[in-house]
Amino acid sequence: TTPLLEVRNLKKSFPIRGGIFGRKLGEIKAVDDVSFTVKNGETLGIVGESGCGKSTTGRTILRLYEPTGGEVKFEGRSLLRLGTEEMRQARRELQMIFQDPFASLNPRQKVADILEEPLIVHKMGDDRERKEQVQELLRVVGLDKMHAGRYPHQFSGGQRQRIGIARALSTKPKLIVADEPVSALDVSIQSQVLNLMADLQEQFELAYLFIAHDLSVVKHISDRVGVMYLGQMVELADREDLYRNPLHPYTQALMSAVPIPDPEVKKERIILGGDVPSPSNPPKGCAFHPRCPHVMEICKEVRPAFEDQGGGHFVACHLMNKAEV
Ligand code: SF4
Ligand code: MG
Repeated sequence: TTPLLEVRNLKKSFPIRGGIFGRKLGEIKAVDDVSFTVKNGETLGIVGESGCGKSTTGRTILRLYEPTGGEVKFEGRSLLRLGTEEMRQARRELQMIFQDPFASLNPRQKVADILEEPLIVHKMGDDRERKEQVQELLRVVGLDKMHAGRYPHQFSGGQRQRIGIARALSTKPKLIVADEPVSALDVSIQSQVLNLMADLQEQFELAYLFIAHDLSVVKHISDRVGVMYLGQMVELADREDLYRNPLHPYTQALMSAVPIPDPEVKKERIILGGDVPSPSNPPKGCAFHPRCPHVMEICKEVRPAFEDQGGGHFVACHLMNKAEV
């Protein structure tokens, strides 16, 4: 069956300009040949440190940035070939939730207007139906209908994110790209918002592309998890596989930093040497090689392919073919 979303060899570079004429001095490969799929109703978590290209991946899929290369298909249809008007229509089914709900909500709009706007844009319902829909949206995200007449600054961070979620839900999307939706919230509020997102997923058969910088945030909500490093996807697997049996040395290091509540389980923290290199000047071969505890000669020359090691557990690492090295 056709996946809901199919991303193939996605690339997005940003030019680096400088000097008095704004000459192009180089480029940042923010997303460098990334491939994955999202099925109907599933959550794919994407994890990586800041600057790894995870947000850019999400935004490029929605064409908030134009991709440099590759293919993005939604329900089998290429999004990259759509004209402006067709893409606007496609966004009805592909919505986004942002990290900072305050920055993404118009401070001069009342909540009722924030929630009604997408319905007007997409010509959904008449005046009365839209007003009812706004009440319904407030209800499903756990806000009071009294809140409709208030402005974003009159809400807490968690409530604002509920408004952002309600707005994303308004057009009845099939996929929501959630870019670090709980990172700006207090830990106690994070789990409330995550639980809400899980409930809504079930209720509305939503798929999520859930972007986070922390493996522990995506652990419970994700069906599968992808790990990005320097613009590349280095590992992608079912949640259980990834957390129990991480195969890429970078994932192993990230995993070793996640606290385990069970005191019986002993694990050693893997401390990575060096800083994340600049995406404008990524290392040759495997981008992780300057920090990798298992680096081999081939790693410095040849970029490892992102390959299925069995059961949909994808890894980009030469250790996977060690017998042949
Ligand atoms: Fe480490 Fe080499 Fe694997 Fe890269 S390819 S993660 S450097 S072992
Ligand atoms: Mg980001």
